[in-house]
Amino acid sequence: MTTPLVEMDGDEMTRIIWQVLKDELILPYVELKSEYYDLGLEKRDETNDQITVDAAKATQKYGVAVKCATITPNDQRMTEYKLKEMWKSPNGTIRSILDGTVFRAPITIESIKPAVKSWKKPITIARHAYGDVYKGVEIKTDEPGVASLVFVGNSGKKTEVEIQKFAGIGVIQGTHNTEKSIRSFAHSCFKFALSTKQDLWFSTKDTISKKYDGFFKAIFEEVYQDYREEFAKAGLEYFYTLIDDAVARVVRSEGGYIWACKNYDGDVMSDMVSTAFGSLAMMTSVLVSPDGKYEYEAAHGTVTRHYYKYLKGEETSTNPVATLFAWSGAFRKRGELDALPELTRYADCLEKACYETLNDGIVTKDLVNLMEGITPKAVNTTEFIKEIKVRLDKLLVL
Ligand code: NAP
Ligand code: MG
Repeated sequence: MTTPLVEMDGDEMTRIIWQVLKDELILPYVELKSEYYDLGLEKRDETNDQITVDAAKATQKYGVAVKCATITPNDQRMTEYKLKEMWKSPNGTIRSILDGTVFRAPITIESIKPAVKSWKKPITIARHAYGDVYKGVEIKTDEPGVASLVFVGNSGKKTEVEIQKFAGIGVIQGTHNTEKSIRSFAHSCFKFALSTKQDLWFSTKDTISKKYDGFFKAIFEEVYQDYREEFAKAGLEYFYTLIDDAVARVVRSEGGYIWACKNYDGDVMSDMVSTAFGSLAMMTSVLVSPDGKYEYEAAHGTVTRHYYKYLKGEETSTNPVATLFAWSGAFRKRGELDALPELTRYADCLEKACYETLNDGIVTKDLVNLMEGITPKAVNTTEFIKEIKVRLDKLLVL
């Protein structure tokens, strides 16, 4: 490696897995160059969360990070870890510094069939993570009256439109988004499509929400002009359609594209897509900033329930696949950026070894009931990682 990878360690069961993955599947094969940030809750508390900010800044500097799942503190964690403060979600802090879009894709294998029969390839959801109803303000009225929408510009110019004359009780909601955030979202989506060589779909409801969703559509169309040539060169397509048409097309499709969604649509559709593909433990997640910085992680949390069992000395069968893919994704990206074909090849082999293990029916407990056409053998986390290692050794000498 020539440029360091930003390594963000985390909490609980995923922290344990992190170390095993490094010891067994990474350090024997890669001369790892990483800048290590311990985002474990104790360290965040000790540094007044400065460590999270430093890790995000290091990502801006080096361009590629890999993150272990971390605890987002709540009341119970305050007592459990005797925290000075209820620190914010590290993902939220990192996202606000990098200003990105989150891309989530299922890791698919032959013996776990998607609930939708036509799906042959993964579908990646790109969720805009700012504004709309998540930043909405609301009123529930208690008498008849008039509601209007008012905007006062810094110039003093006032724009007012009537929403509704209420004859009885009603509800009202005000939502917003910003040109800057929508533009960032669009750039991230086009860049990610190019980097993963997939078509990009984008959907809104601009026939109904003419100005609001119309603005999203117009910005995407405008930003697309910056990428049109590169898309053509790569044989990729950008495709805009209405959200209801998109839903129908997604269900009839073979998969293999990125579906960019507004915040609420992305929230709902990513749960639908991940469940229909199988399991949260088999989802990759990557945050991509508009200036092309990448932070790879697993989509799941720290798997607390398994960790408490582990602490009691009980055997655990936690699925390390998503965490492993976070590492392989980061290595592949580093390999591409630094022109290190051997590193890219290692990342490919690591994923291949993982697929081969799963396809041989050797799986962690969470997958046993999802497998079809094969008799699965459930193993614990350590055994599962050992099985991957056997296959990785074979692939790397080929
Ligand atoms: P979680 O850690 O994702 O686990 C929820 C349940 O899903 C687990 O109890 C387990 O089910 C199953 N599961 C998730 N990942 C699995 C894996 N790799 N292998 C096998 N089973 C898996 O969510 P949570 O329990 O709601 O949250 C725990 C902590 O994680 C919280 O402190 C939360 O703040 C944090 N969190 C962090 C992130 C992040 O850093 N990106 C994201 C979400 C949550 P069974 O118990 O039925 O086996
Ligand atoms: Mg949700």
